[in-house]
Amino acid sequence: MSGEMNRRSFLHLGAAAGAAALASRWVFAQAAPPADRLTQMRTAGASTPIKSTKLYDNLWLLQGAGGNMAVQSGKDGNILIDSSFATAVPHIREAIAAVSTDAPHALVNTHWHVDHVDGNEGMHAAGFHVIAHEKTKERMSQPAEMKLFQMSLPAYPDSALPATTFATSMHHNHNGDSIDLVHYDPAHTDTDIYIHFHNADILHCGDIFFNKTYPFIDEGTGGSIGGTIAAAQKSLALAGDKTKIIPGHGPLGDKTDLREYVDMLSVVRDKVAALKQGGASEQEVIGKKPTADLDADWAHGFAPDMFVGIVYRTV
Ligand SMILES: [Zn+2]
Ligand SMILES: [Zn+2]
Repeated sequence: MSGEMNRRSFLHLGAAAGAAALASRWVFAQAAPPADRLTQMRTAGASTPIKSTKLYDNLWLLQGAGGNMAVQSGKDGNILIDSSFATAVPHIREAIAAVSTDAPHALVNTHWHVDHVDGNEGMHAAGFHVIAHEKTKERMSQPAEMKLFQMSLPAYPDSALPATTFATSMHHNHNGDSIDLVHYDPAHTDTDIYIHFHNADILHCGDIFFNKTYPFIDEGTGGSIGGTIAAAQKSLALAGDKTKIIPGHGPLGDKTDLREYVDMLSVVRDKVAALKQGGASEQEVIGKKPTADLDADWAHGFAPDMFVGIVYRTV
């Protein structure tokens, strides 16, 4: 992928096993008319198979075109985390059927972004009851603009909206596990939650964690570099040495990966903040390439210049 292409691409991460594979999955070139971007993402949802990885006796990671999903199976009914794109629904249903004959129960959304909720309507029709933070419902209920990508999103119909919402946290004892759903303070957006399966020792962090790549942070809906660092640190405090940590994008991670991510975010935040305090404009800071010595490890998806711009504007 050329530098220009990379700089101009939109997030489309998911099934990658490694950084090289990740880079190849960023397929949404900004060269395409903005109106077509949602169509492009949904086309990828239709054509991308879903890879299942068993993480625990009754818990699988599902990776396809959108954000990373997970499914917990059992006699109490299946819990799905996130729903990718609407066009991925047949693939998601197939992936669940391949690992479980249990009934549908709940679909939990990690946050409001299209690559995590677009399949809600289809999964709701398949019998899943949608649960999310109250602001996820609020944001899905209205048309939205994602300025950085010049992308307009229509409001979702009622059948796609979370039927159960919460403000701070929820707890479920389900399929033999103790499950916490907890809202982060504004981080990647103002709708982010984590899902913690205590017995399975698995933590799904949603998009407050992009593993092995610079993140997109949605400043238009409350996201900031400082909030993302704080959320990642909060997650780090929940994790043990063997905890499997599911990022919103990128390969399955662990505590070491999350710690490296926090360290990277903190280094970039500090450098950009110092330059900004010194009076440098956004374009000047981007021109100074403050991430240059990190790019070999982290520029595998979201473009460094775009990341630096977000850090500058939200620090
Ligand atoms: Zn995402
Ligand atoms: Zn997101």
